[in-house]
Amino acid sequence: MANLKGKCALVTGSTSGIGLAIARAMAGAGADLVLNGFGDAGEIEAIRADIAKRAGVRVCYDAADLSDADQISRMMSELADDAQPVDILVNNAGIQHVAPVDEFPPEQWDRIIAINLTSAFHTIRLALPTMRSKGWGRIINVASTHGLVASKGKAAYVAAKHGIAGLTKTVALECAEDGITANAICPGFVRTELVDRQIQKLARDRGEDADSVAGDFVGEKHPTRRFVEAADVAELAVFLCSDAASSITGAMLPIDGGWTAR
Ligand code: NAD
Repeated sequence: MANLKGKCALVTGSTSGIGLAIARAMAGAGADLVLNGFGDAGEIEAIRADIAKRAGVRVCYDAADLSDADQISRMMSELADDAQPVDILVNNAGIQHVAPVDEFPPEQWDRIIAINLTSAFHTIRLALPTMRSKGWGRIINVASTHGLVASKGKAAYVAAKHGIAGLTKTVALECAEDGITANAICPGFVRTELVDRQIQKLARDRGEDADSVAGDFVGEKHPTRRFVEAADVAELAVFLCSDAASSITGAMLPIDGGWTAR
């Protein structure tokens, strides 16, 4: 088990879903935490206070919109100034839009590439100098099975996640001698808001109830016919921060119920 006491973890998009599970797990392993993402201010404060109390670590929140490079720069420099330089960077924020490529709204393409890919370039380039000076760092990009294979209707998402794969491998090579690892986790379907919105839409289109559509949705892709648990993705992220994982770098790690085995 990783002991992350004394480390600071920034988890982007950690106000819900997989990012929140990773944030809780990082704090549980002793890391101080920076939360980020959208949501109701009261609910975010309740999450922040709850994690701080349970884990006994310092937890703060930054509202930076990751589609905006200036807001990312502001967040990263404020963290450094506040004596919280990022030791563990988890690029998790992401959005989805489903449409055939010839009907794909260009503004949705731009937004998905900005949030799901370009934001990781900015956080990584701004976090690396301090990681290098400390001789230790962990970069974990939450990609997707869609970083390894494609599905119809998800051109921007698949392009962004394949882009994350290239970014992860390049950063891993550039940092290989600096005590810094860079890896991507590739989850299959996890039942979060991002996936629930797709299931609700399919259910409306088919005139069926969401639970039976959810079974088909996951069964079509996962040989296990089960959703992946966000908490299991989080445990993998924490493991990547342990000493035992120091030789794992540049890897795309599926956690996908067997999706990419066939
Ligand atoms: P989610 O919708 O529950 O969480 C997304 C998070 O990103 C939220 O905290 C949201 O506020 C934040 N976010 C969105 N736009 C943002 C922006 N502009 N700036 C800052 N934060 C922003 O979804 P999730 O399923 O937990 O997705 C998290 C990551 O996991 C994404 O990168 C997604 O592509 C990836 N992923 C999800 C699944 C899945 O099945 N749910 C599978 C593979 C990969």
